[in-house]
Amino acid sequence: MKIICIGRNYAEHAKEMKAELPIEPVFFMKPDTALLKDEDFYLPNFTNDLHHEIELVLKICKAGKHIEEQFAHKYYNEIGLGIDFTARDIQANCKEKGLPWEKAKAFDNSAPIGKFTPIENLILNNINFELKLNGVSKQIGTSKDLIFSFDKIIAYVSQFISLKVGDLIYTGTPEGVGQVNIGDKLEGFLNGDLFLKLNIL
Ligand code: MG
Repeated sequence: MKIICIGRNYAEHAKEMKAELPIEPVFFMKPDTALLKDEDFYLPNFTNDLHHEIELVLKICKAGKHIEEQFAHKYYNEIGLGIDFTARDIQANCKEKGLPWEKAKAFDNSAPIGKFTPIENLILNNINFELKLNGVSKQIGTSKDLIFSFDKIIAYVSQFISLKVGDLIYTGTPEGVGQVNIGDKLEGFLNGDLFLKLNIL
């Protein structure tokens, strides 16, 4: 399986990163070794500024390429919560030099994933989600604010990369990203229910 991540998909987050609003989806990938299903995350020693990015995650249920937007909803059947961990110091350095972001984004365990729920349980353009750090709310998002909808993302990405059953798409983070440190506890909520728990060790 592979993990596809969408960048700058919420206007307020693009603003806090001092990035321009994209005119088409921005995407990058993480390998399967980035996936973390465990509740314990060991802070890597190569960064001094690891950031949390809470994101809604689509689980692909059908293989496809060149998927038309009008049929895209048939290609995912569950949505969950994940974190796109980002070594912000390394990313800033890569951006400055015009280099790829993999070192900052695709390292081992950089994609914690929590529970999923069938899409029938959700109103897709009105999913609320939140990240709490040590019990304090840090990121609050709603799928209403997505620049590119789930279906648009699938249509766009599948022009370039075939989707397979089990692939995950991290759909972008709302504003409020920030640093995590050893000892922190992260909790992710989807429509008020706890979907993801992580201890930073
Ligand atoms: Mg992200």
